[in-house]
Amino acid sequence: MKTSIIAVGTELLFGQTVNTNASYLSDNLNHMGFDVMYHFVVGDNPERLRAKIREAFADTDLVLLTGGLGPTQDDLTKEIVAEEMGADLYLDEKALAHLKSFFDKHGRHMAENNLKQAYLPIGCTPLYNESGTAPGFALEKDGKVAVCFPGPPREMKWLWENGARSYLEGFMDKKMYYRVIRTIGIGESDLEMLLMPLIDGQTDPTIATYAKEGECTFRIASQRDTMEEAEQAVREMTEKVTDLVGDFIYSFDDEELNEVVVHKLKEKNLTVASAESATAGMFASCIADVPGASDVMHSAFVTYSNESKIKNVGVPAEIIEKYGAVSPETAVAMAKGARDAVGSDIGISVTGYAGPDADPGHEAGEAYIGYAYGSDSGFCSINTSRNMRNWNRGYFTLRMLRTVYLLIK
Ligand code: AMP
Ligand code: MG
Repeated sequence: MKTSIIAVGTELLFGQTVNTNASYLSDNLNHMGFDVMYHFVVGDNPERLRAKIREAFADTDLVLLTGGLGPTQDDLTKEIVAEEMGADLYLDEKALAHLKSFFDKHGRHMAENNLKQAYLPIGCTPLYNESGTAPGFALEKDGKVAVCFPGPPREMKWLWENGARSYLEGFMDKKMYYRVIRTIGIGESDLEMLLMPLIDGQTDPTIATYAKEGECTFRIASQRDTMEEAEQAVREMTEKVTDLVGDFIYSFDDEELNEVVVHKLKEKNLTVASAESATAGMFASCIADVPGASDVMHSAFVTYSNESKIKNVGVPAEIIEKYGAVSPETAVAMAKGARDAVGSDIGISVTGYAGPDADPGHEAGEAYIGYAYGSDSGFCSINTSRNMRNWNRGYFTLRMLRTVYLLIK
């Protein structure tokens, strides 16, 4: 079913609020097999909202709207949707009772204009809102469907989970299943080339590749009569894909690399310690993002200065003098030093130029990742050729995660 999403609210156009509702709904709708074709954002302006509703219905059959269901004068979504679909409003007793009890419960006085929220279009399917005051609703006419949600993301999600989703399931004759597979160490075009025999001429399951910052993901999706059939088709395709590009896959379930690293470390009963210069703790922070991190990382070092590299992780002063602070030799010594300082199984390090400046003879984006694990140690060289400080720091961090992952996968 062709679908549009219209997010209503002038604050979205000002850039003060990010349109997270659209991405949430899109993601969920795609999972269910709806074809989301448009995202629109429109301010609290009745004429422009009306025009967008017409435009959306001209090309798509299902239109989801978020925002503009509040009690104030500029909240007009309900009124305009009802008008466009030829429905008058009525006072919904259940919505009114809910509204009153909501204010009672919170010990607040109900202002006159709140009453506006208890009106709904005649013939709609109400979506009563237990997480706020404004009810949502779905309205059908001549094969066209509008579903309206309040703007606050918490309320929108509550209504999605408690009513809207099951209402929309009624429109799907096919069931959609998909899985997102993540890879590292291969570019999008190479990945696509390898998968070409499977992508070419394939209508179901479909495979779509996406490049993300520093990594590549792809989605295998199938739409069948039953969920079991769709899952089976995706499973079979996953096996074929694994035969072709399995070496690059690090997650079959859309997990982040840091999650996979922490889970693998835990599974293998290993610990990691880091010594970070250019990233100043970003690696450690990424590990800490995952629950259970403290089981796999007992200590971490931020060693910006030469003194810190020498004092905290025992890098021999001669190495820094001879090869420089940003060098493979220093990186390896940092990794070994971090590991030995705290008795962890793995040491990982980075030393480099986040930019925008670099020492003479070097450029921003140059870095070395060092590692030490058992008798194995080594480094990877990076040169991003970018002088974007935080982009570089993020990329170096990703490469540290990748290096640990390759050591333990
Ligand atoms: P409403 O009164 O229904 O227009 O919603 C108002 C509140 O919801 C404000 O706090 C907005 O910033 C937030 N909001 C509205 N639309 C969105 C959206 N598309 N994504 C995220 N937040 C939103
Ligand atoms: Mg608004």
